[in-house]
Amino acid sequence: MTKEERIRYHKKNPWSKHLVGILNRCGKIRSYLKIKNFLHTKDLKYLWFRDKAYLMERPSIHRLDSFGHYIIKNCKFIEFSEHCTHPKNRLNGKWSYEYDKCVSCGKTDREHYAFGLCAKCYCREWRRINLKEE
Ligand SMILES: [Zn+2]
Repeated sequence: MTKEERIRYHKKNPWSKHLVGILNRCGKIRSYLKIKNFLHTKDLKYLWFRDKAYLMERPSIHRLDSFGHYIIKNCKFIEFSEHCTHPKNRLNGKWSYEYDKCVSCGKTDREHYAFGLCAKCYCREWRRINLKEE
């Protein structure tokens, strides 16, 4: 595909570029958490119309359960600005939207991941719950 063809393709199939974003986000910590993408372009197209993403200013794919995989029932398109109010996003230099420091280790040098936990503590919790490690 040439650059022009690709631009035209994404214009006609606006959901397809979200697959690229998902695949990028499945790297690093998410591969450690073994979060996988099971969505294909046709699934994104389904979600796109189900959630009326075409009416959104800046649609963004969201997982309802952040422990869960990218599968249809765990995903929906939301407005990107809604994503920004999610606690895992930093706000004005605060460590996270709701927490000043990691609720487990009390540190702020690692990035907030979810539920008031830094990425490392979150991984540890996740492993404890899912792999039954002590
Ligand atoms: Zn921590």
